[in-house]
Amino acid sequence: MSTFKDLGLNEYLLQAITDLGFVNPSEVQEKAIPILLESETDLVALAQTGTGKTAAFGFPMLEKIDVNSRTTQGLILSPTRELCLQITNEMKQYGKYCKGLNVVAIYGGSSITDQAREVKRGAQIIVATPGRMKDMISRRLVDITKIQYSVLDEADEMLNMGFYEDITDILSHTPEDKSTWLFSATMPREVATIAKKFMDNPQEITVGNKNESTSTVSHEYYLVNARDRYQALKRLSDANPDIFSVVFCRTKRDTQKVAEKLIEDGYSAGALHGDLSQNQRDLVMKSFRNKQIQTLVATDVAARGIDVDDITHVINYQLPDEIETYTHRSGRTGRAGKTGVSIVIVSKSEVRKIKSIERIIKKQFEKKDIPDGADICEVQLMSLANKIHNTEINHEIDKHLTRINELFADTDKDELIKKFFSVEFTRFYNYYNKSKNLNIAEGSFDSDGGRDFKGGKNSTRYFINVGRKDGFDWMKLKDFLRELLDLGKDDIFKAEVKDSFSFFNTENELKEKVLAFFTDFKHEGRFVNVEVSENRGGGGRRDRKGGGRRRDDKRGGGKREGRRSDSGNRSERRRSEGSSKPRRSDSGSKSNDFASSRPRRSRR
Ligand code: AMP
Repeated sequence: MSTFKDLGLNEYLLQAITDLGFVNPSEVQEKAIPILLESETDLVALAQTGTGKTAAFGFPMLEKIDVNSRTTQGLILSPTRELCLQITNEMKQYGKYCKGLNVVAIYGGSSITDQAREVKRGAQIIVATPGRMKDMISRRLVDITKIQYSVLDEADEMLNMGFYEDITDILSHTPEDKSTWLFSATMPREVATIAKKFMDNPQEITVGNKNESTSTVSHEYYLVNARDRYQALKRLSDANPDIFSVVFCRTKRDTQKVAEKLIEDGYSAGALHGDLSQNQRDLVMKSFRNKQIQTLVATDVAARGIDVDDITHVINYQLPDEIETYTHRSGRTGRAGKTGVSIVIVSKSEVRKIKSIERIIKKQFEKKDIPDGADICEVQLMSLANKIHNTEINHEIDKHLTRINELFADTDKDELIKKFFSVEFTRFYNYYNKSKNLNIAEGSFDSDGGRDFKGGKNSTRYFINVGRKDGFDWMKLKDFLRELLDLGKDDIFKAEVKDSFSFFNTENELKEKVLAFFTDFKHEGRFVNVEVSENRGGGGRRDRKGGGRRRDDKRGGGKREGRRSDSGNRSERRRSEGSSKPRRSDSGSKSNDFASSRPRRSRR
């Protein structure tokens, strides 16, 4: 293995490298740096984030530019503001002994005038996002007509985000004879096209195989019913007390909802998606970097800039639409030589995608079971025991010791330990005692297919007086209800549509919300009634008839007036039921109970 000195870097850079604590060059650095130092060449490098690629192009660029000139000589384009700032920061650190060096970040969401002023001071290197860069070029606030080195970082991401036109436009303002260095984690056709169009006989290096996942990441999947996704996520978090994770959702809405639910349930979580203001996103990222947030729930687009080294787990709450995106997600963990786990929570209908991902990443997934309550209690208890064992004694306690000893004079050591741990353990135990098994066998039916009508005790089945005659099928009914009630994709399940009425299920925790909504709701001029069906599983012939009859019995022939007044009574009944029940079947005690110990501590 070579050293940084062997690669031919100058003293200034070697000193900064020592300060940063880098001992040996990473693979991409070892391959790219000598090529870029020795010749003026174009380069295509296939390397994941976290492999040290910023230094792979950063060191040669810093070595080659003239810091005594104020002309802009290097341009680095990156897909997101976060990444842009990270690269700028890294470049400044690498070049901290290069006197006169000015690296300027240009990105949207911040004052363009301030950035223009910075550039005017003489920026030898500009790190930019394509949109803002194009804007500044058109306003003549930057001059890139003399650059000698351009870097397209995370080229696949930039193209995914629709920056092709912007990149083309920006590069058209740069000299023909500059060197272009393209870095990309994957090599889709679009990236190959860019390479062909803008580069002249580029040298190629590959770190790992194209599109392949890094070797430090292991891949696991967990098969659950779609409606149990959230519970599965919580269990996976609880089974890993020191988890520091990114949870990926498909939409902004799901991202926000999952984060909100986690926070409500006592976890230290935050949401990162495009509907948040830049300020909000910065705050969330700051908290995540400082580890005040243990779980960051993010969309793919928003997470593109995440460059945090210690992420222990990436959790695919939902698989991405494009399975290639999985490589990007899993690349957020296992960085800088650390190990990581990439988890997929998968429902029956998606499980075949696992095979396709395996083909892309050239790695096998391990199918694992969501831990049961007893396992989680044990993990949490032992984690607490270890923490206590490793805790440094605070001697401020000494002055209270006499009184405490008096209190425990008759308690022997075993009893004291049991009592002490029960404070925490009982919370875990109460929460997970009698929790259900979330795992489903690969051969079983998925509930949304309409065949598995085993109603669990955690779900409520409803009767609704609309059906096929009203234009519904099970999918339309689900969409209709989700939209009305502002629910997530998996919140309505076991929808079964008959001619003039239907059934559906939700988790018990949504019962109040569902029933409250339909106390006085009209659809196409007609009152829509929803009531709890006694048979949780529903769907059977008897249940169906029972549902219909019960409605007629109660409503005196189903007259509109009757329905309205009955709805009122129903909500009265519900209110009294609601107050006597625990808030949630599986998560109710969570927010008050054990979860509070871990997240609250980390929030402080
Ligand atoms: P990057 O792939 O450029 O995002 O780098 C990922 C992380 O690895 C960053 O935090 C770098 O500071 C760090 N890093 C880069 N090169 C090395 C190296 N040779 N040894 C140790 N850490 C490195």
